[in-house]
Amino acid sequence: MSRKKNTPTDRKFMMAEVVKSERISPNFVRLTLAGLDGLKAWGADHWCRLFFTREGQDVLALPTRTSEIGWYLQYLATPKARRPWVRAYTVREARPDVGEVDIDFVIHGDHESMGPAAKFALEAKPGDRLGFLDQGSAFTPDHPHDWTLLVGDETALPAFAGICRALPKSAKGIAIIEIPSAEDKQNFDAPADMDIKWVVREESAQSYEKPGELALKVLAETTLPNSEVHAHTIGEAGLATGARRHLIQERGIPKRNVDFAGYWRYRRAQTS
Ligand SMILES: Cc1cc2nc3c(=O)[nH]c(=O)nc-3n(C[C@H](O)[C@H](O)[C@H](O)COP(=O)(O)OP(=O)(O)OC[C@H]3O[C@@H](n4cnc5c(N)ncnc54)[C@H](O)[C@@H]3O)c2cc1C
Repeated sequence: MSRKKNTPTDRKFMMAEVVKSERISPNFVRLTLAGLDGLKAWGADHWCRLFFTREGQDVLALPTRTSEIGWYLQYLATPKARRPWVRAYTVREARPDVGEVDIDFVIHGDHESMGPAAKFALEAKPGDRLGFLDQGSAFTPDHPHDWTLLVGDETALPAFAGICRALPKSAKGIAIIEIPSAEDKQNFDAPADMDIKWVVREESAQSYEKPGELALKVLAETTLPNSEVHAHTIGEAGLATGARRHLIQERGIPKRNVDFAGYWRYRRAQTS
């Protein structure tokens, strides 16, 4: 279902600069981006759009219109050769006082198959520039509920860390987070009664090529409290839609209690 989102009303395109790059675990690179004057911390799953130059472009041509539809129409009207790449990412940490954010990029595939965003993160060095458009936060449950269910893959980890930090200390819940390797686990603040279930692909007895399939299996095997839930399922599109279908059809959870978003598609590059 679509909920009211926490979206900035005075959005602007900003030019960000990489000030730090760190391989925080086998499959994640954390970039610190600076130069974001006027940045606001939206909390929960604060996300943004990042704009990268394509090969052969020496100028990063950012749209000038900022309304949600306006910038995209302008972007589509720009000849491909001049358009930047655009990808969505979660703000892992926002520091508005110094205009900085940390973003955790999943490094997926090998050098040939990885997309422009993962490649940018892998090769980034201080001084590299990219565009930044703030999107606010999308985790806005607007119905009474007793507990929270989070299900996602590694691309959902930054969002789940932010959501867990934003939940009231008294909140109860379960977070099923699928990650490639045990070393990709991260510590983050969460309510004491939030049961964080790390699901590690590398350690699974059965081999799963497609991210999200193991999390779906674990979800199906998990006993869920029999009270009003708010569920949020994000990550690979098959995981997000599969978890939603399971919760509604197999567990009898009303549609309005389940939010889902496909963050990426297996073996399908984003076209813009
Ligand atoms: C709101 C939102 C927040 C997001 N937050 C984050 C975040 O914080 N960190 C993060 O890493 N991602 C995040 N994502 C997902 C990210 O936008 C996608 O993974 C994106 O496709 C990566 O772009 P790319 O240029 O690297 O690859 P693309 O050019 O889009 O794809 C190239 C190839 O890589 C594959 N691919 C893309 N992503 C993955 C992956 N994660 N694992 C395996 N294969 C992949 C595609 O299927 C395709 O075959 C978020 C998405 C959304 C919508």
